[in-house]
Amino acid sequence: MALLRKNIWTLFILLFGGSLLFLIAISYYRWLNINESYRLKQESLVDLVSNASHSLFVNQEIILDVLGSELIKDPEFTDTVKTKPLLDQLLALNPAIVGFGLANPQGKLTFISSNLNPSRLPNLLQQQASRDSFQRALESNSMVLGRTYYMGALNEWVIPIRKAVRDENGRVLAVMTAGLRIKGASRFFSNDIHMDKYNRVTLLRAADHYPQYHSSEGADMELAYSKPVKAEAMQRAISSLLKKSGVSLASLKETESMVSFRIKTNDWKSVGVARFDKKYQLWTVSEIKLTKIYDDFFESFFSYLVIFGLGQLVIYRLFRLIASAEDQRRQDLIYQASHDPLTQLPNRGYLSMHKEEWLSQENPPEFSVLFVDMDHFKSVNDSFGHEFGDEVLKELAARLKENAPSQATLIRQGGDEFLIFIHETDDKVLLPLAKGIITALSRPYQVEGINFTLGASIGIAKYPLHGTDLDSLLRASDIAMYEAKKHKNSVRVFADEMQSGYLHKLVVEQQLRKGLDNDELFMVYQPQIDSNGKLYGVEALVRWQNEELGFVPPDQFISIAEASGLMPRLGEFVLRRSLSEMKQAQLETGLEFHVSINVSVRQFMQANFMALLLDAIEVSGLSKVFISLEITESLFIEDLDYILPLLQQIHDMGIQVSMDDFGTGYSSLSMLRTLPVDELKIDKSFVDNILNDDAARKMVQNIIAIGKNYEMAVLAEGVETQAQADLLSRFGCDRFQGYLYAKPMKPEDLKTFLCNCKGND
Ligand code: C2E
Ligand code: CA
Ligand code: CA
Repeated sequence: MALLRKNIWTLFILLFGGSLLFLIAISYYRWLNINESYRLKQESLVDLVSNASHSLFVNQEIILDVLGSELIKDPEFTDTVKTKPLLDQLLALNPAIVGFGLANPQGKLTFISSNLNPSRLPNLLQQQASRDSFQRALESNSMVLGRTYYMGALNEWVIPIRKAVRDENGRVLAVMTAGLRIKGASRFFSNDIHMDKYNRVTLLRAADHYPQYHSSEGADMELAYSKPVKAEAMQRAISSLLKKSGVSLASLKETESMVSFRIKTNDWKSVGVARFDKKYQLWTVSEIKLTKIYDDFFESFFSYLVIFGLGQLVIYRLFRLIASAEDQRRQDLIYQASHDPLTQLPNRGYLSMHKEEWLSQENPPEFSVLFVDMDHFKSVNDSFGHEFGDEVLKELAARLKENAPSQATLIRQGGDEFLIFIHETDDKVLLPLAKGIITALSRPYQVEGINFTLGASIGIAKYPLHGTDLDSLLRASDIAMYEAKKHKNSVRVFADEMQSGYLHKLVVEQQLRKGLDNDELFMVYQPQIDSNGKLYGVEALVRWQNEELGFVPPDQFISIAEASGLMPRLGEFVLRRSLSEMKQAQLETGLEFHVSINVSVRQFMQANFMALLLDAIEVSGLSKVFISLEITESLFIEDLDYILPLLQQIHDMGIQVSMDDFGTGYSSLSMLRTLPVDELKIDKSFVDNILNDDAARKMVQNIIAIGKNYEMAVLAEGVETQAQADLLSRFGCDRFQGYLYAKPMKPEDLKTFLCNCKGND
């Protein structure tokens, strides 16, 4: 059970680990996915922006080309600054352009659009901000972009664009220049080109790393255009870019391919995509802050985590449910294993589970065990069936619970045996307690409408006085109980002397069990003579010759057989063997005589007694009229409602019923009248004293009178002298049995005896 429980949690941990791995995997996948999707977004953005800006610049270049060639055709192409209506017209058509100008190769502006103030015009070659790009325009065949700057005169941020106008020999005649507006309604890029506040898009000048154009949330122009990108950041971006693309910077520029990179500096962390514009020497760069990617990722991750957490919670609950069901099952099993299902009392299993509590403490407490055993309980089962017996046991247990002290531990040891463990060793307390229990158990029972009484015996053993371990303690209480059983409804405290008798009984029981298997038992037969001196019948008596114990007298082993449950087997042996041997004797001698068989109470109360009897008779072939059953008065302690009909039935079949040891028991005369008894046997103890004891003689006379009265034959047993026989004869005794006539004999000897009788006739 514990193993299963452990396995459940191992499974849970495995499942948890598996889910965790899955969570990590799916999160990692999500991370890649987010990065990939931003990369793709940025790629298409960069593609769009670079294409758009390129074509915008190409357009401007065409305008500058056309305009420049137009302007130098002008005859008034002189050193004086003039405003040209053509420029103004073009300016009006092209609102993204701040102003036009035409400069001579020395940097002096000679034509300007009319929105510019002629008095504040700088020399483009001399002015620091424009010198560089002007210089390059002089050398380049295509349009050159100047550094984005603030044009104070017009209060505008502009991208200066310049294009040299050449003659057919390539000599520079003039430089056409203009400014592209990057702010306000009519700016050059009509929309923000970045995606959202996490994204920024820059057109970065390859020459000096100044931003040409910058689009981001709340971009500060001053800041954006006044400084180049920090060398360190640039360095990192380029090395990351080279690493990712795996080619050289020159070839990246040459092929204008899309490439991604990652920047991590103290104040800026992003992933981005870039592409170079060869013609205008511009990088189109899109970057997304890493924080945005983290945010997106953690948003997903958080929802995964919630799902994971909830899932785990549900699974955990489920497992706990299973585990607790398992626990419950385990506890149920433990309960079942340690409790008797019938009475719900703790059982022997409970005892072995809990014996440590009683025995192996540092300072063992003194306590006692009361061994309670019901007298003749087996006959209840035998007569009324087990279900009935179960009901009685329930009632028994209830009475025990009621009468045992509350702190005592009550255990059903098995069958009708109960143990009471109690922290008490004083006889002054124990004996009254035990007697109280016996009194309670002896009160009449009424079960399924049947009234009866049961006796109980209690043996007491004390710890550690009578045993230092559970087994020896229980055995001591058992021995004391057996001692108590000898006297009905009594209590005995264990004493050492009890031990030997008990052990002997154990040995006898053991040997008897073997003896029954090994055919050590046999029958002898003692003749019974009628008043004419003729053979009336024989009494069958059992004998046992054991290897170890020698000859064991029947009065000894029969009580042991009764107590240990061997009686049914023994009784069946006696019945079958006697009937068949005597049938044989009748056949061989040609004589007809009665066979009297002793039937013990236990045997008679056996549920299948009747069936067995009939079968034995049929198997033997002996006629029923020759058969007697000897019963004793102790039978009438048992349930008469069961016994009387059975006796009647036996009697009606023609089988005789003989009352053995009559006069020693306590059957009332009034009851005797109603009993189907054919013969009274005067007990040997009366016959023994008939010559010298008045009371015995009176008793014998009475018994004979009763017999006559109720039309029962009277047999005297144990007749040893002729004087006894004569006196009995005089009193009117019908039959005689005793050593005077013959001792019990084996069948062969009996046959000889019978033949001699026949011969005497
Ligand atoms: P019981 O039924 O009263 O048997 C008569 C006993 O008296 C027998 O002893 C018998 O041998 C003995 N006896 C007979 N005549 C004389 C005599 O003149 N002098 C003396 N001293 N004894 C005499 P046993 O065979 O030892 O049986 C003792 C008891 O054991 C029987 O008493 C009976 O209760 C029981 N028993 C014997 N055999 C059986 C049996 O097969 N089944 C049952 N259930 N009980 C049996
Ligand atoms: Ca007898
Ligand atoms: Ca007898």
